[in-house]
Amino acid sequence: MADGYDLIVLGAGHNGLILQAYLCKAGLKVLAVDRAPLAGGGLTTVEDPRYPGFLHNTHAFFQRAITAMPWYTHLELERHGAVYIEPELNVVLLTKDGRTLEWWTDLERTVVSFAQFSRRDAATLRRWHDEFSPIVTKILRPEAQSPPLPPDERRAILERSASGRRLLEVSALTPLEFVHREFEHPTIQAGLLFFNGLREVDVRVRGFGHHIAALLSQPSKAQMSRGGSAALARALESAVREAGGAIRTMTEPRCIVVENGRAVGIETAWGEVIRARHGVASSLNPHQTFLGLLDEAHVPVAIRAQADAFKYNLIAPLFSLNLNLREPPRYKVAAARPELDHGFMVVIGLDHVDQFSDLIRHHEAGTIPPTIMWGACPTRFDSTQAPPDRHTAFMWEKTPYRLNGDARNWDTARDAHGREMLGLWQQHAPNLADAVIDSFTRSPLDVERSLPNMREGDLLIGAFTDGQIGYNRPFAGAGRYRTHLPGLYLCGSSSHPGGNITGLPGYNAAQVVLAELGITADWVPPPLGEQLGRL
Ligand SMILES: Cc1cc2nc3c(=O)[nH]c(=O)nc-3n(C[C@H](O)[C@H](O)[C@H](O)COP(=O)(O)OP(=O)(O)OC[C@H]3O[C@@H](n4cnc5c(N)ncnc54)[C@H](O)[C@@H]3O)c2cc1C
Repeated sequence: MADGYDLIVLGAGHNGLILQAYLCKAGLKVLAVDRAPLAGGGLTTVEDPRYPGFLHNTHAFFQRAITAMPWYTHLELERHGAVYIEPELNVVLLTKDGRTLEWWTDLERTVVSFAQFSRRDAATLRRWHDEFSPIVTKILRPEAQSPPLPPDERRAILERSASGRRLLEVSALTPLEFVHREFEHPTIQAGLLFFNGLREVDVRVRGFGHHIAALLSQPSKAQMSRGGSAALARALESAVREAGGAIRTMTEPRCIVVENGRAVGIETAWGEVIRARHGVASSLNPHQTFLGLLDEAHVPVAIRAQADAFKYNLIAPLFSLNLNLREPPRYKVAAARPELDHGFMVVIGLDHVDQFSDLIRHHEAGTIPPTIMWGACPTRFDSTQAPPDRHTAFMWEKTPYRLNGDARNWDTARDAHGREMLGLWQQHAPNLADAVIDSFTRSPLDVERSLPNMREGDLLIGAFTDGQIGYNRPFAGAGRYRTHLPGLYLCGSSSHPGGNITGLPGYNAAQVVLAELGITADWVPPPLGEQLGRL
């Protein structure tokens, strides 16, 4: 029996590692366990076994505003090897008729691109950017970077200020209503909903009308990690180890050990009991944590029912096509404007806002929608991800998890679908016909196989529905990173503010755990109520 830890973290994805690093820096002895051979979770970079030197980021690649995250600075991740790149032409949407809608890191260039489609929409973009920038800075960012407030308390505080009231008013819309009300051009409407879709918010759900305005106002755009996404995982690991933390990979817990009504450790799949004085923090999903790892006797019936009812995102699952290339994709549109070949995120197959209702219908029916895909050629910006003079590129597409009613159908449908995606890609980048050295595909089922916390292929690990956001994420009674069981904390994407590489569930959980243990730290922001109260 191994002894002597203060806390055990389940899952060494980036959220688990961030929590662990903060706790270790505060002097606690923390162990992280993970079933995978390498820590990092969605921060995965693999080498093509058939072609050494070709690296592929099979999960997260586009990472929004990482260098602006508080944990990136506090944990000194650049000293631990992290390097980020933020390409100027951040997103380019290629339409069927050969036009481009562009998002640049420079707002003025984005406005010029919007104006090619609609002058009115260009002016609207600027208006929303200017109006929402302070709302992002003063409300939405502090909210994402703090343990959330109870909904009534939050509303009461926001109603006291003009910007708070404006946020509540815009939120009351659905994203679909927001784009239809504010913008006129169907391609611009489609592009804006696409960004909303990247956060997997259902475009038909009220309470999320502010999402697009918030995205338009973010000062920091999509970034990539030099050396591959896993380089951030290695930097986090280095920060953890330097602070005295231990990480055990290929270690799957069989159960959470509970004594006298308190979580006190774990038992591994092979029967080893590892104890921890202050308990366990789980970055896994509620099905795993409350139903898989806790004995029924330790979970009240109501909590079991809530965990069982936890919903995953219908339109989150991704299908990916990954290529090893002799040369980068050369897009037809770049013949007249060479800078377009340096677009970071390239979106293909999306022209009209109405495609979104079609996409949702296909997901509900379990059928493959007409392809809307987006991806990148990482080696355009980072030559370390392929051998000299060679390249890698990928495209992702939202496809249903249960293909024709059963996720296993992906194993037979996968390769043919990859060829269809390549066909569409070649229509925009004809050189791909001769440039491909090797390719592979991954389906939503493959995602769940490699990361079982991404149940049903949901890479955000829990839908953003009214009952599963903020204070009530993952569900009422388990919000704010605490559970019904003393000593059992939550720290993964099923908690506020949700999935993607933000590190904020881990960062916020660290605030809660340290407060509960009576440990003060100089990096902890003032309580959220106090921050919002200053508005
Ligand atoms: C194809 C794809 C593309 C994506 N693209 C992006 C993107 O471009 N940008 C972005 O921001 N996000 C992207 N994501 C989402 C992002 O990867 C996740 O939201 C993020 O990794 C969640 O972080 P986490 O730390 O909460 O969980 P994870 O990163 O999933 O980490 C959880 C860890 O728990 C471990 N684990 C699971 N089950 C067990 C168990 N039973 N026992 C022990 N350990 C266990 C896993 O091995 C894993 O290491 C993408 C995901 C996928 C699948």
